[in-house]
Amino acid sequence: MEPILSLKNVCSYYDKVQVLYDINVDVYPGEIVSVIGANGAGKSTMMKTIMGLVHMGRGQVTFDGKKLNRMHAHKICKAGIAYVPEGREVFPNMTVLENLEMGAYCRSYTAAQMNEKLEEMYTMFPRLKERLKQKAGSMSGGEQQMLAIARGLMSDPSMVMLDEPSLGLAPVIVDDVFDVIHNINTVKKLPVILVEQNAYMALSISNRCYVLENGRIAHSGKSSELIQSDVIRETYLGG
Ligand code: ATP
Repeated sequence: MEPILSLKNVCSYYDKVQVLYDINVDVYPGEIVSVIGANGAGKSTMMKTIMGLVHMGRGQVTFDGKKLNRMHAHKICKAGIAYVPEGREVFPNMTVLENLEMGAYCRSYTAAQMNEKLEEMYTMFPRLKERLKQKAGSMSGGEQQMLAIARGLMSDPSMVMLDEPSLGLAPVIVDDVFDVIHNINTVKKLPVILVEQNAYMALSISNRCYVLENGRIAHSGKSSELIQSDVIRETYLGG
């Protein structure tokens, strides 16, 4: 099987400062791939590089058979990647409904298609339907995270990238977010890349995992094997 997303020797920079070194990552259809690592390891930079938001000096990103190098973020969205950034970044002064509609900006939906997509989101996220007219900024952290994910799904993606979706949420809400990620993968059949500080949750939900250390892939493999490995347990799972 061919990977749907492939990073080959990707090197990324902020100005002249190199942050990613020869990153090789593959994501296959149907899988959840997690990316874990300490603060500053380069996890967010990897996602931003895929989305064309950080300068890639060397290497190649291929998605669904297309080279993404030097493509603008809106074209990458159109090519089928939904990116849910760290910190959710909902539009705080817009309503829930307006945020969802914004998620479809890279598609030229007819009114009927837009409604169909919105109905799909209301089925998956019933709480959002109850709050369509509420300003997004006045919602709880968990609700904003759900909105950010739903906004990403409005673009009808073929792959979803989530950056730290559990950050700052109460444990019971984290469980809800992980249920949603599981549904995106099993019900919608979309591959998912998940960047997570919570290494245990990340390894539990994913098929495979890449471990970033100082901008390099230090370990990778099946999550079920990494969760048993002594070095991963000691470094990332608290022993
Ligand atoms: P965290 O979990 O803290 O978000 P991360 O693994 O996602 O960490 P990145 O945010 O990708 O790490 O950061 C990787 C490195 O790049 C860090 O050294 C960081 O200081 C640096 N960096 C991130 N954003 C910028 C920027 N806009 N300009 C310059 N350097 C940056």
